[in-house]
Amino acid sequence: MQSLPHRVDVIVAGARCAGAATAMLLARQGMRVLVVDPAQPGTDTLSTHALMRSALVQLANWGLLDAIWATGAPAIRTTTFHYGRETIPIAIKPRSGVDALVAPRRTALDPVLQDGAREAGAELVFGHSVQGLLRDDSGRVSGAVVADRERNVVEIQADLVIGADGIRSKVAELAGAEKLVAGAHSACSIFGYVDGRSPDGYHWYYGDGSASGIIPTNGGACIFAGTSSAWFDANRDHGMEAAYLDLLAKASPDLAAEVEESGAPARLRAFAGMPGYPRESVGDGWALVGDAGFFRDPITAHGITDALREAELLSRAIAGTGESTLATYQAERDARVKGMLEISDRVAAFDWTLSEVKAQHRDLNGEMNSLLETIEPAEAQNATWGRLVATYD
Ligand SMILES: Cc1cc2nc3c(=O)[nH]c(=O)nc-3n(C[C@H](O)[C@H](O)[C@H](O)COP(=O)(O)OP(=O)(O)OC[C@H]3O[C@@H](n4cnc5c(N)ncnc54)[C@H](O)[C@@H]3O)c2cc1C
Repeated sequence: MQSLPHRVDVIVAGARCAGAATAMLLARQGMRVLVVDPAQPGTDTLSTHALMRSALVQLANWGLLDAIWATGAPAIRTTTFHYGRETIPIAIKPRSGVDALVAPRRTALDPVLQDGAREAGAELVFGHSVQGLLRDDSGRVSGAVVADRERNVVEIQADLVIGADGIRSKVAELAGAEKLVAGAHSACSIFGYVDGRSPDGYHWYYGDGSASGIIPTNGGACIFAGTSSAWFDANRDHGMEAAYLDLLAKASPDLAAEVEESGAPARLRAFAGMPGYPRESVGDGWALVGDAGFFRDPITAHGITDALREAELLSRAIAGTGESTLATYQAERDARVKGMLEISDRVAAFDWTLSEVKAQHRDLNGEMNSLLETIEPAEAQNATWGRLVATYD
């Protein structure tokens, strides 16, 4: 087994957007941080890639944005909403040093964050996972049992164990962290990549109980289609490509015709869906961040942006550099993300009319605005977001 330290300040389970970012920020505070992940570096995960403005603001603040542009992911200068035949293009206005959005593949984004963590002094160990929690006599978590692929185990003492280990979080299970609320709806998503297509920015299409979109990345254009999980369960046996083309046609007949003509993506990936939740995320000696701590339906494309924001806010609470403490972090997070969870759940229901989903997007824009304020001082806000809201009206 790889030689691992016997004692660190913080163990982080999970080395992707939530885990690597949290580790980087804590290591920058001078903490000794060990990150373990059973995956190998540079591997893909089940996710599309749209980053929203606050993620760009954070990546720039952390000094990582140049590395993101160096991946070759194109600058996104417009987001275009298509509601049936109505088209609403929205320009991305320059602000806080950010004049474009970006959507790197996870094989590019996660390594940039991991490099940032390593450069800050965190130790990252792949092919290893947290399999148990150590507890002291008072029951407080005092470290973790880490295993490699051959099931060799080592006990590592730590002041804090952080689960950044995604929706099926082992740390949450071991800590007994319950979901506090479960969403009523969930959506499926089927996606793949096509080469030789350079869309001008993000495109989101809504129609006939389904949604689709195009996200330009550094590895082709990602074209996804989604609808309710119930539809997916009833139709998955007819074949993934048939389900994909059917959904594309419902959301946008023009996009579906284009894809049929040029050929569907060679490989399609599907997420059957899971209702959103906030989970109990702080306890004696442990905490959760990213999807482990709260999950909203991916239909609103905010999980990575949310993971980066919560990584920063949790790190500030741990290091004592923010307004929150670890004791107040969870209640404040729950208040902060309530609106995002509710809107994502309503969109994932796929029972809306086009004017209703348009109104939900307006609400979402308001939520994005207030979530951005949590990582950016108020004086950095300018009229840009006001103009975006006005554009929706
Ligand atoms: C189909 C789909 C499309 C999406 N599209 C978007 C989008 O366009 N934009 C967006 O912002 N978000 C999107 N999301 C959401 C986004 O992918 C997640 O919110 C984000 O990946 C959460 O990051 P995370 O670091 O919390 O968890 P993850 O990315 O899930 O990483 C968790 C890591 O923990 C590791 N791990 C698991 N168990 C252990 C263990 N026991 N010990 C140690 N490590 C462990 C895993 O190997 C993994 O590497 C999408 C999600 C899906 C499913």
